[in-house]
Amino acid sequence: MTSTDSHIRDPHSFVPARKIEDLEPFRAKYLAERDKRLTESGAEQYLAVQFEGKFSEFDADPYARGRREIAPMTAEVDVLVIGAGFMGMTAAIGLKKAGISNIKILDVAADFGGTWYWNRYPGVRCDIESYIYFPMLEETGYVPKERYSTGTEIYEYCRLLARQFDLYDNSLFQTRVTGMEWDEDTARWTVNTDGGDVFSARFVSTQSGLFVRPHLPGIPGVGSFAGHSFHTSRWDFDYTGGDAEGNLTGLEGKRVAIIGTGATGIQAIPHLADHAQSLVVFQRTPTQVMPRLNAPTDTSWFESLPEGWHTERRIAFDKCAMDRVAADSEVDDGWIRFAKYQLAAMAEAGNGNPTLQDFMDAMERSDYEWNEMLRDRVDATVLDPATAEKLKTYYRTLCKRPGFSDVYLPTFNKESVELVDTSATPIDRITERGIAVGDREFEVDLIIYATGFEHGRSWTDKAGYDVLGRNGNRLSKKFSDGISTLHGFLSQDFPNLFFLGFTQTGAVSNFAHLIDQQANHMVYIITKAMKSGIRALEPTADAEAGWNTVMREVSVAKLEYFTACTPGQYNNEGKLADNRNPLVSGVYMPGCEFFDLLAEWRKRDDLDGLSVTS
Ligand code: NAP
Repeated sequence: MTSTDSHIRDPHSFVPARKIEDLEPFRAKYLAERDKRLTESGAEQYLAVQFEGKFSEFDADPYARGRREIAPMTAEVDVLVIGAGFMGMTAAIGLKKAGISNIKILDVAADFGGTWYWNRYPGVRCDIESYIYFPMLEETGYVPKERYSTGTEIYEYCRLLARQFDLYDNSLFQTRVTGMEWDEDTARWTVNTDGGDVFSARFVSTQSGLFVRPHLPGIPGVGSFAGHSFHTSRWDFDYTGGDAEGNLTGLEGKRVAIIGTGATGIQAIPHLADHAQSLVVFQRTPTQVMPRLNAPTDTSWFESLPEGWHTERRIAFDKCAMDRVAADSEVDDGWIRFAKYQLAAMAEAGNGNPTLQDFMDAMERSDYEWNEMLRDRVDATVLDPATAEKLKTYYRTLCKRPGFSDVYLPTFNKESVELVDTSATPIDRITERGIAVGDREFEVDLIIYATGFEHGRSWTDKAGYDVLGRNGNRLSKKFSDGISTLHGFLSQDFPNLFFLGFTQTGAVSNFAHLIDQQANHMVYIITKAMKSGIRALEPTADAEAGWNTVMREVSVAKLEYFTACTPGQYNNEGKLADNRNPLVSGVYMPGCEFFDLLAEWRKRDDLDGLSVTS
């Protein structure tokens, strides 16, 4: 058996088979599973990987060939774009199309790609359909090879975009921003980097993706292991052999441990199991595993798509998958099937004289039924009943990122693979020889941390630099308890500084769609400012306070759902009062309604809510 085998008898027919009447046993079981995992420390449990100093070895770039060789630069630019992932690239391309070409794009990585530059672990693949995930498909004419693209293909597409839109000439890689200061006299930002560069920028675009800084589990002894270890986003192929497609021949004869079974873990684990002498998987919470439903692209279908299809397909997907305001999307995958199942349950509840509670119950019941189906799938796939039990998920579907795989669950049928459930008995410590849990010490040669990325720290902590704004105001202070903006883009006392990413923005399943919408909005504001001779713009106090109120209101609506969730990134590890996690405090739902709100704002063309200095 290899990780390319398919083990789903009929993956296309997955539908819940059982109807649930009594919700109480499910509620009780889900809460008990949550309680097992709640910690006092919440998101503080994780160990930060410093740029320099503690654990910085887990941050080193294994993909770059050598260090930056460019001498320190001093330059005046119209827009400085910090981050060369999808966000930075989409922003830069939008600016160039608008005729603003005096821009510089900075990144710590050695190339474009962002998430897809860093995440090259074996099995890396996007869980969102490629036809709606890849940006600018209609412009580039590129045809994704499969419905669900490999990380390698997406990374290469980023490079293609950079070439097609001449971004390489505007880029400066292996360079990290160390600080930024507003100069009132020139109405410009002075930006410093670790390469000794000094940029004077009229506008700055910052990006805060969700998967920027790797973090390590809060387990005593991390760093004391005498064998080899790395984080999945800094995969050491020199040690494992192979590449993002697998073929980890360097692991022959090696005893391997992996901690973490999130979206990354479930993709990498089958490849580790294919090659390691033994593999121990440390799981605190299982991930929902839906069928992959991958297929090669039908090129004649792709080429027959009418003009404008890309945006339309994206909107239809997000309106159905996340917003639940439209019942249809041509993307027939796990996201949409689950949404449609819930929408059908809601429609059924709408018969007669329903109350709001009837609709809420219908949502909850259909979620339990969906998970019963996935639990049945585990039983049907995993031969050992005790192992199967550990792999079953007991939390509502959108509490955590769902996973999609046809090869993950069968991996646990291999004799060389052991699953260690640490939900009730946490890992005690990392030792010199391996990993100690209870009365067992697992001696291994390699420990892989599939433990995700920082999510509970403040915006400036994650960015790794502070910003000194107007009147001596520091961003670290202003955002210490969560970010405060107008529409997620601009913040008072920090003129001309844009925040893109998971700020106080719309929530959608397809992050690439959000990025396009945000970049479009920022480009509109910058273009207007440059055309109208505006020196500086920032939100008025009232407008910013108004948006914060909207954010608080939308957060309250989600509170009950996320309080009942097992801890994770989406509920700030159960600490819902901590606003620093933007997913808890600041996402607007329905996401597509947020995009309409921005479009309306642009249509008025009056920069409503912004204070402008000409
Ligand atoms: P993640 O979702 O944060 O998962 C981290 C894993 O580490 C979880 O299983 C977590 O368990 C476990 N963990 C943390 N501390 C632990 C400890 N002390 N002991 C045992 N286990 C511990 O990180 P990820 O898998 O890298 O995914 C990050 C995000 O990237 C995802 O949310 C997803 O959006 C994105 N992603 C997308 C794709 C895709 O599109 N294909 C692929 C990969 C990643 P708990 O759940 O109990 O905390």
